[in-house]
Amino acid sequence: MTALGEAPARSGDAQIIALCNQKGGVGKTTSTVNLGAALAESGRRVLLVDLDPQGALSAGLGVPLYDLTATIYNLLGRSAPPIDDVLTKTGVENMDLLPSNIDLSAAEIQLVNEFGREQTLSRVLAQVRDRYDYILIDCQPALSLLTVNALACADGVIIPMECEFFSLRGLALLTDTMEKVRDRLNPRLNLLGIVVTMFDRRLLHSRQVLARVAETFGDRLYNTVISRTVRFPDSSIAGEPITTWAPKSSGAEQYRALAQEVIQQSAR
Ligand code: ADP
Ligand code: MG
Repeated sequence: MTALGEAPARSGDAQIIALCNQKGGVGKTTSTVNLGAALAESGRRVLLVDLDPQGALSAGLGVPLYDLTATIYNLLGRSAPPIDDVLTKTGVENMDLLPSNIDLSAAEIQLVNEFGREQTLSRVLAQVRDRYDYILIDCQPALSLLTVNALACADGVIIPMECEFFSLRGLALLTDTMEKVRDRLNPRLNLLGIVVTMFDRRLLHSRQVLARVAETFGDRLYNTVISRTVRFPDSSIAGEPITTWAPKSSGAEQYRALAQEVIQQSAR
C-alpha cells in the first residue's frame, strides 16, 4: 500500500538509467558493464543498451562486433526486426545486451527527419521494459540526438566523472542539456548521481578533485568512488565484467557497493 502523499509506486517496469557524460574516456562504458553485472549478481534482471557507435560496451562483453547481423541501429530504423532477434545474452546470468557497432553512426542522420525523433529509443525499450529491473544505457561521448534519445526515455542519469580537475568543466553543459530535456521531453528525468572514477588516493590532486566535487554536488555524489586500476582495461580485453573476471578485486567490490547505492535509491 502506498501511504497518502507518497509518490505512487513504480509499475514494476524497469528503471531506465542513462550513463552520460559528453567527455570521452571517463568510465561510462566501464561503469555500465560493471554496475550492470553487479546488479545482476544481486538478482536483478538487467538489460544493457550500447548507444555508442564505437561499440565498446559490446566489445567489452566479448561480442564480435563485425559479425552482428542486427543491432540497436536496426531497431531504431523503419521496418525494425523483432527486438528478440537483437537481444543478446551475455556471459553474466540475468544480464542481456542490445549491442551496437559502427552501423549506429548512420542513425543520427536518419533520425533527424523522423517524426518524434527524440522518442525513438523510448518506443524500442517500451517493448521489453517489463522483462527487466534495470535498463542501463551506455551513451556516446557527445550531446547528440542519440544521447538525447537516451535522456528522453531515462528515469535517471548517472554521470561518471574521471577524477581530474578539468573534468569539472563541461558538467554544466550536461546539466543544462538535462534541464532542457526535462522541460521539453521527459519530466521524470532525474540526476541520480555523479560517480567519480579513476581515483588514486596516493595523489593529492585526486583527493583535491574529490573534495571539490563533493563540495559542488553534495549528496548527488555517490559515496562509492572507483579507483584507478589496470584491472578494468584488462577485464574488457578478456570480454568480461570485473565482477566475474576478478571477483575478489577492489574494483569488483567498488561496483558492488555502487550497485547497492543504486538499489537503495530505487527503493526510495
Ligand atoms: P568512456 O565510456 O567514458 O569513454 P571507458 O569506460 O571506455 O570510458 O574508459 C576509458 C578507458 O579507461 C578504458 O580503456 C577503460 O578500460 C579505462 N578505465 C575505465 N575505468 C577505469 C578505472 N577505474 N581505472 C583504470 N582504467 C579505467
Ligand atoms: Mg564508452
